[in-house]
Amino acid sequence: MRGVKVELYKTKKIINDHKHSDDGWFWTRYSAIPYKGCVHGCRYCYCWDEKYAPHKDYRLLDKVVMVKENAPELLRKELARKPRDVIASGDWQPVEASYKLSRRMLEIIYELKFPLMVIERAPLLCRDLDILTDIAAQTDAYVGYSIVTTTDDKRRLHFEPRGPSTAGRFRAMRRIADAGILIGTLAMPIIPHIFDSDAELRLLVKMTRDAGGKFVLFGGMTLWGTCKRVFYEAVEEYNSSLLGRIDLWDANKARKTRWVRRCHLTIAEECEKRGILHYIPRPVSFYPPELQFNKRIAGKLSIKKRDIEMLGESRYRAMAYFKAARTIDGLLVDIRDIYKEKGRAGLLALDGIGEKLAGIIEGYLNTNPS
Ligand code: SF4
Repeated sequence: MRGVKVELYKTKKIINDHKHSDDGWFWTRYSAIPYKGCVHGCRYCYCWDEKYAPHKDYRLLDKVVMVKENAPELLRKELARKPRDVIASGDWQPVEASYKLSRRMLEIIYELKFPLMVIERAPLLCRDLDILTDIAAQTDAYVGYSIVTTTDDKRRLHFEPRGPSTAGRFRAMRRIADAGILIGTLAMPIIPHIFDSDAELRLLVKMTRDAGGKFVLFGGMTLWGTCKRVFYEAVEEYNSSLLGRIDLWDANKARKTRWVRRCHLTIAEECEKRGILHYIPRPVSFYPPELQFNKRIAGKLSIKKRDIEMLGESRYRAMAYFKAARTIDGLLVDIRDIYKEKGRAGLLALDGIGEKLAGIIEGYLNTNPS
């Protein structure tokens, strides 16, 4: 790609280990990405900030791509020592067409029988549909396509100057869905006052469903440091009269909470209407059979926790769900056996589970006894 420098280097470590699965959102526990820097240069990207910038000079984010040439070998070595859980991997930006490191990493993930999540926006991912399908058949594979707006590509290009077209992403979604792989839209970040009208959010859900997508996961914007500056420059070039409104949105916590609630509710309601989900269902089939039920219940509690947060409801309530989910997620015995033996008292003896949550969990247990 013109104007982009590619540099090869050897990294010392490839996997980021998150200790717990990313509950209520992507369900990933590990991540491993073969490139540093990103030619897409989205102007809302958090990587513009020095804290996350891949290069010392943040301005090089979309100008220098560093290729971790030993990424596949390191992945094999590091992943083989990890307990089986979902890994987010790959990056199909243009450099991948020549280096094929993401493909090789997927082959290793398959070889080691790990489940995979892909977060992507480039249609090049379809090149590796064969290996994605193999992973899905063996353990689990699911894909979230980042799509933040619908039909107006001219408007989108202000914020994603080198990102693939929205239509191209939906075409890729259709191909991946047709191959039987769980896929949906990651509507994040939705940009306030620009891509956030109810009509546009509803259309995004409809387009996802029409392309075979099974979920739309909404996420708002967090603005800070240099990424805020880069984003504001983009807004100024797009329509400077919006700057004041966006700044007010950013400065006013109550306003922002109401905005998140409105977007979340709109998307959740439209998803329900169209028969898809406003969350990613937790994959559990690769856990030991005696723990899969626990993982499913922990997943439900985590999704509830996320809903409470997005609706701006009580932080304490969200925290209670979070703690209960973590406890059940970490149990080494089937919660149904605990309940069978000790009833509600057995649930109440678990860390962080009080009367109210014990009742909710009891409800799950009684409606899903096996
Ligand atoms: S695709 Fe966009 S948001 Fe994602 S890493 Fe690249 S520049 Fe950032």
